[in-house]
Amino acid sequence: MARIFAKAPERFAEAARNTKVWSKVMAQVCDICGKGPQFGNNISHAHNITRRRWSVNLQAVKALVNGQPKRIRVCASCIKSGKIAKA
Ligand SMILES: [Zn+2]
Repeated sequence: MARIFAKAPERFAEAARNTKVWSKVMAQVCDICGKGPQFGNNISHAHNITRRRWSVNLQAVKALVNGQPKRIRVCASCIKSGKIAKA
């Protein structure tokens, strides 16, 4: 146990660095409906289970937002259902 605690500060520092890197990555979230990635498991034929995630089908589109053309990231289902007015 003592070893784990001795290593802890390094791990926190590494985690903090990683979150900094991740904060620079764009969120996989639709600007209209707020849909984000979903999470689940990969299950191999040998029944090894690993985590996986399904990303949203996001498209960068130019659309009218409050009458002004703006580049937004929208999911394909929002585009198909006509929730945005393309500019
Ligand atoms: Zn959407």
